[in-house]
Amino acid sequence: MQKPKLIWLNVIVFSLTALITLLGVPAYAFFHGFDGWQIAAMLLGIGFCEISITAGYHRLWSHRAYEAHWLTRLVLAIGGTYATQNSILHWVSDHRRHHQYVDDNKKDPYSAKLGFWYSHIGWMLRDYNTDFDPHYNNCRDLQKDPIVMWQHRHYLPLVLGINFGIPILLGLWHGDLLGMLLLAGVARLAISHHLTFFINSLAHVWGKQPYTDLNSSRDNGVIALLTMGEGYHNYHHCFQRDYRNGIRWWQFDPTKWLIRGLAWLGLAKNLYRTPIERIETLRAQMLLTTTTRKLAHSPHAETLILRLQYEYETLISRINEFSRAKKQWIDASRASVMEELEGYDLENLKKRVEILKANFLHQKKHWQVLNASIA
Ligand SMILES: [Zn+2]
Ligand SMILES: [Zn+2]
Repeated sequence: MQKPKLIWLNVIVFSLTALITLLGVPAYAFFHGFDGWQIAAMLLGIGFCEISITAGYHRLWSHRAYEAHWLTRLVLAIGGTYATQNSILHWVSDHRRHHQYVDDNKKDPYSAKLGFWYSHIGWMLRDYNTDFDPHYNNCRDLQKDPIVMWQHRHYLPLVLGINFGIPILLGLWHGDLLGMLLLAGVARLAISHHLTFFINSLAHVWGKQPYTDLNSSRDNGVIALLTMGEGYHNYHHCFQRDYRNGIRWWQFDPTKWLIRGLAWLGLAKNLYRTPIERIETLRAQMLLTTTTRKLAHSPHAETLILRLQYEYETLISRINEFSRAKKQWIDASRASVMEELEGYDLENLKKRVEILKANFLHQKKHWQVLNASIA
């Protein structure tokens, strides 16, 4: 079968930026040297590019995980243009198809099933995307956002202006123009490209699957360090609307911290969090599946699996009990505000929610210990 046509512009940009970063930058460092300002400009640039993709292109525009003030959207659109990963509209259209058809080699634009190279960069080097919808019908919501459409219409002049403009201005201020172009221009672009691309490649092959094994996505703390928190990709594929990818307070997710900071400043609102009962139900199901699989060849498999099933069902019923009580309390709180009625026993309902939550967390602990001891 004949391979699709090469997209020469992409081939040249990716090869040239990689070659200059791998050969030109070390040579310049050896013969001329860089100073702290230039290194800082590169590192801050990488951070700005990466977080504009994760907080902007990804969590805000692809998944509507929160709402953002126009100033936030403008800064994220500029940072995303500096990152040079196509317009918001185009990127989001690809990404929404990735979630909808994950691992489907025909419909997922960067299907991990086609290998590491393909999902990392290969998918952009040839014209594989033949059924791409030029009207972006899966992004109708974004077509109402004037900042998204402005960036889309003027993408080429914006990308050239920002990518040359920022390093040139920094170089003129600093005095070593070529050095700044190499570090803040080329190396910053190549490194931030590959760090983001790891989310499509590495985060689909390396790590754990605590929530689902129905797709190839993985949770991996090391990848989170490299990708502004996007390494918790198994979680993300299950709960894509959550503004967090690392849900525990200690999980490295600077994108979630930035969004929370923006909300605190009034520059973001309506941050969506997946209810804990949905998260824990899925985790329990997955753990039941993996432990049952591991027990298959154990001599006491039958008894152990029965015990496991019993504890699992207890956990699920406690989660459901908690979930019902929480809903009752929320409904009652709303009703008491709307109707301005006294007499709703909100305090008692709230107490009940707290007790049932503690109950289910206690059973969760027990369930985890049991799994660890028999698996
Ligand atoms: Zn993915
Ligand atoms: Zn996503």
